[in-house]
Amino acid sequence: MRIPLDRQSAEPLYQQIEAFLRQGILTGSIAPDTRLPATRQLARDLGVNRITVENAYAELEADGLVCSRVGSGTYVLPSSPLSPLPRDGPGAPWPLWQQDLQFRCWVSGVPGILEVPEVSEGELPEELPGARTARYPHQISFAGGTGDAGLFPAEDFRKAIQNVMRRDGITALEYGERSGYTPLRRTIAHVLASQGLQARAENILITSGSQQALALVSQLLLKPGDPILVESPTYGGALDLFRSLGLRVIGIPTDERGMRVEMLEELLERYHPKLIYTIPNFHNPTGACMSGQRRRQLVVLADRYNVPILEDDFVGDLRYDGRAQPALKALDPGGRVIYISTFSKMLMPGLRVGFLVAEGPVYDQLVSYKRVNDLATSNLIQRVLEAYVNVGRYQAHLRRSRQVYRKRRDAMLLALNRHLPAGVRVDPPQGGLFIWLRLPGNLSSEKLLPLALEEGVTFAPGSDFFPDDLGGSDDSDNKLCLRLNFAVQPPKAIEEGIKRLGRAIMRFLSPDEGRAALREQGPSAKLSSRSAETGV
Ligand code: PMP
Repeated sequence: MRIPLDRQSAEPLYQQIEAFLRQGILTGSIAPDTRLPATRQLARDLGVNRITVENAYAELEADGLVCSRVGSGTYVLPSSPLSPLPRDGPGAPWPLWQQDLQFRCWVSGVPGILEVPEVSEGELPEELPGARTARYPHQISFAGGTGDAGLFPAEDFRKAIQNVMRRDGITALEYGERSGYTPLRRTIAHVLASQGLQARAENILITSGSQQALALVSQLLLKPGDPILVESPTYGGALDLFRSLGLRVIGIPTDERGMRVEMLEELLERYHPKLIYTIPNFHNPTGACMSGQRRRQLVVLADRYNVPILEDDFVGDLRYDGRAQPALKALDPGGRVIYISTFSKMLMPGLRVGFLVAEGPVYDQLVSYKRVNDLATSNLIQRVLEAYVNVGRYQAHLRRSRQVYRKRRDAMLLALNRHLPAGVRVDPPQGGLFIWLRLPGNLSSEKLLPLALEEGVTFAPGSDFFPDDLGGSDDSDNKLCLRLNFAVQPPKAIEEGIKRLGRAIMRFLSPDEGRAALREQGPSAKLSSRSAETGV
């Protein structure tokens, strides 16, 4: 065997030999079971002392790369001590315990976020070809679940990071306090108070996004098989979480005023749920805002039946018109409602900062659960957020976001009115990010999606948002509905995207249906009664 040795090098010769052989073994150029040359022989070939070769072999043996067999020599070991699994047959490539998981595990019903390039205002085609096979270089996406990243005050935030690092130094990179950075919790308490929700910093727990708050509450209060009530439809990420925990998820029907609380008592008696999960403000996906009367009824019923309420207020700040309704938590004198919210939609989701508000033993337990789940939410980001929110720029950012999103909502409602056929039903939302749309006839949004993609527009199909057990409600919405995010695209792109959606729908309708739809097309045919309130 020839091993290049550098006798001038500071690296000892035995290490050079070892490194050469190690490299050969790890890359496979010296195959498993190869017998290495006898130490005496290799020492002679290389012109080194036999001890030098023995030391090199000993290092390789210590790392499990070779083994010496008495009287036989030194052999290269296979890279894994285990024999490879046979590659044919179902589940064969995985060890047995993994094969078990394959059949037991829950599968996410929510597809990943569509990775499509988004169109910017300048890139819109002047003239659109109407051909069936038209492929646009850029999709216009209404599928996402967040606000417009372009509005994020990146420069202010960069400065806030620098200021915090200068001010707090390495302390900002410690784990930090158990419940979260106290000044941030105080700031959140002030913001909540300005919205009519009195919360004390001691009752706020900072979480890694509100998704973690959802997970902590579920882990603490629920066990596999427990029934829970959710609005039908509801946020797909919550459904995924509940399914992953093996919960029995039962839907309560909704309408344009949110959860149909008049149906709640019957479901409470029938299922004895262990939790009610609700999104009262600008619901995901429907955009509906729960009426004040229903909020009061819900709190009273949950109390009567001793069921905790998990209130998800993910975009409560984004109201464009109408009167603000009290948070359920504000109607709870203490201990009944767990409130969660997030900075993901008002700022950026990658900050991963959300929070919950709870009182009583449940709060202490949630703090412990948070601890065992991920020890802490980024201390640095919490401090930066606190610094940023406190200088008043946050309020200015909120005002600007509301202005921009309101215009976009109006642009989308107008475009829907203009370009979609009759029979499409829309409940104009008073805030938030989403418009929920009901297709006419037997149109399935899942089947529409590939056609829409061909036309160059995407949306979230309704089936992503429905629980398995619809609690006795009609399941047709499941297929007929779709969610549009109006917040991420500028008005011109909204107009263009909805035009494309209209074309996709027309392609889907039979020629007769299409003609009828065109004849009937007009504002009153589509927007529900609440459209008057939004001025669209
Ligand atoms: N609740 C709702 C209703 C949501 O739409 C989302 C995100 N899409 C979340 C909670 C979780 O968001 P995050 O963890 O980023 O706060």
